[in-house]
Amino acid sequence: MFTLAPNPLITEKEIKKRVTQMAEEIAVEYENVGPVMAIALLRGSYVFTADLLRELSRQGQTVQEIDFIIASSYGAATESSGNVQIVRDVGSDISGKHVLIIDDILDSGNTMHRLQELLLSRKPASLKICVLLDKPSRREKKIEADYIGFKIDDHFVVGYGLDFDQRFRELPYIGLIEERA
Ligand code: 5GP
Ligand code: MG
Repeated sequence: MFTLAPNPLITEKEIKKRVTQMAEEIAVEYENVGPVMAIALLRGSYVFTADLLRELSRQGQTVQEIDFIIASSYGAATESSGNVQIVRDVGSDISGKHVLIIDDILDSGNTMHRLQELLLSRKPASLKICVLLDKPSRREKKIEADYIGFKIDDHFVVGYGLDFDQRFRELPYIGLIEERA
């Protein structure tokens, strides 16, 4: 049986602090670049995206547009496969825009690798990747994010947008799913 571990892996306070730092970092880097077009991957990144973009706005960074992509990879429930499908695409032309992809977690890298390939083929002015969490130990594709909130070990995490079988997305912190006998 899988259950939610009693103690957070990353607390609400730690997330808030780090998201603010990330927004500062992004705002500094884009200051002389221009407005950002944010593309968030649903559903896992919805909480992070909302917090990060509002923080960017507080930092004075213009977010020109926010759009969403839904990607799905067919495979086991807690693992993505190399077969990544775009279920919902962005609604507008990204050519010439400074695109920032926002996702919850970079794991095998299969999803982001496919997405990067697809979006680059549409000729954005620039393309950067921002993730709240990174599990580098599980990488299968050669890909790194430009902005990373926290590097974590190989755990299955939930909360702050991330789910286990659609549960726990509403938790304000990042928690761990444990297997109990
Ligand atoms: P990748 O293609 O990099 O293996 O998979 C990335 C996606 O897998 C993430 O956007 C996320 O939806 C899901 N994922 C990977 N690791 C975790 C995890 O520890 N917890 C949850 N809830 N989802 C994860
Ligand atoms: Mg995801």
